[in-house]
Amino acid sequence: MALGRLRLLLALWLARAAAVLSRSLGRGGATALPGLLAERVAPGFVPTIASQFESGAVLITGTNGKTTTARLLASALSAGGHAFVHNREGSNLTRGIASALVHASDWRGYLKDSRTFALMETDEVTLTFAAGALQPRAVAFTNLFRDQLDRYGEVDAVSSHWRKALDSLPSDTTLVLNADDPSVAELALDWSGPLHWYSLAGAREEAAFPGPADARWCRDCGGVYDYELRYTGHLGRWRCSVCGRSSPQPDTRATSIEATPDGLRLVVSGLGDVEVPLGGIYNAANALAAISLARVIGISNGDIQAGLAATRPAFGRGELVVLGGLSLRLLLCKNPAGASEALRLVADEDGTVDVAFVLNDRLADGRDVSWIWDVDFELLSGRINRCWAGGVRAADAALRLHYAGWPISVSSRSTPGSFLDELTQWEGDNPVTILLTYTALLELRAELSRRGAYSQSTGGRISTATA
Ligand SMILES: [Zn+2]
Repeated sequence: MALGRLRLLLALWLARAAAVLSRSLGRGGATALPGLLAERVAPGFVPTIASQFESGAVLITGTNGKTTTARLLASALSAGGHAFVHNREGSNLTRGIASALVHASDWRGYLKDSRTFALMETDEVTLTFAAGALQPRAVAFTNLFRDQLDRYGEVDAVSSHWRKALDSLPSDTTLVLNADDPSVAELALDWSGPLHWYSLAGAREEAAFPGPADARWCRDCGGVYDYELRYTGHLGRWRCSVCGRSSPQPDTRATSIEATPDGLRLVVSGLGDVEVPLGGIYNAANALAAISLARVIGISNGDIQAGLAATRPAFGRGELVVLGGLSLRLLLCKNPAGASEALRLVADEDGTVDVAFVLNDRLADGRDVSWIWDVDFELLSGRINRCWAGGVRAADAALRLHYAGWPISVSSRSTPGSFLDELTQWEGDNPVTILLTYTALLELRAELSRRGAYSQSTGGRISTATA
């Protein structure tokens, strides 16, 4: 017992020292190393600290939308004056969760504020660990798309990881499930505890633009899913053609969605009007996930509405960045579904558009870039005024844009510096939308920070910290 305690403290002190050192070396927010150390030195670190959360833990997982859903929920918690601990963007692995707990603890191994909520995004594969270690009150599953095949294998593999994770949850955990995604809905077959369903399908009666579908088959009977409507990828109102299993009745549902100059206005059952200052239908789904989680953990309607309305986009999720006379909108694209959604957001605008595509193939992006051929770049054919290709795989990006019928892209420069040099020669009136892969976003952010760019959304300078 005493040894275990000593070990925990040693782990915590080493981790905190590493965080201080990392910061003083200018390595930014130290989102990985402290947690990695803590977990190595004291393998029970996360569950020991996590057991102190009196308000409990909430997990968010899924292919797309984790970060934005977490931000929306964080904003609702803030509006209600609730304290929370949140693992930062890009740190949704075990070490990122552990790092968040290192920062939330004092030197004696206690939470600085035990009334705090733990709000953790987790990687699909880290979910099993997080479920066991954090014993969450609620877990949201946003969607399951093809993503980073190198790392995770097929969607079926992720789906079986998820099912395994359910075994580690307390039996009274509420699963918050996207009713529009049959791959997510299947989880209910393995869960006897409480469920909370959300759905956007009721707000999308018009024929939508489905984009690439990650086709799935019914787990009960192997039948093909039929769709009464599909609003993106394989999400929509579905029904198994053989056994008849279909989209569950939602507990939280949007009855209408409207694009506004500032983002979205949703009408949500039992809540009324909700303003979300983020564009794109995928953010409507993220908002419903956040609203559902907030309801499950008892946040008031007023705090939900105020919180969502006050949300700021995360870096790379539509934030406007100003560099000299140039306005840039950065949209992270990690997979075909996310990239096609980002393009649809641009397509919703009037007139011609200026768009860049920056493609890297580093480990965190996925080494295989063939996914770009599944992205619906054709959506903007005929609408492009000027376009650029960049990144380590700029040539592949340019080729893809060429086949989509876009004009010849201006640059094939591969470093963030030369890419920005090329871009800043442009004197257009509209913001340039930049679609980027994960490491391309981090690298561009560092370069923008060096050049003194500032964020129009926060009004502050872009910092080098990996937010
Ligand atoms: Zn079936």
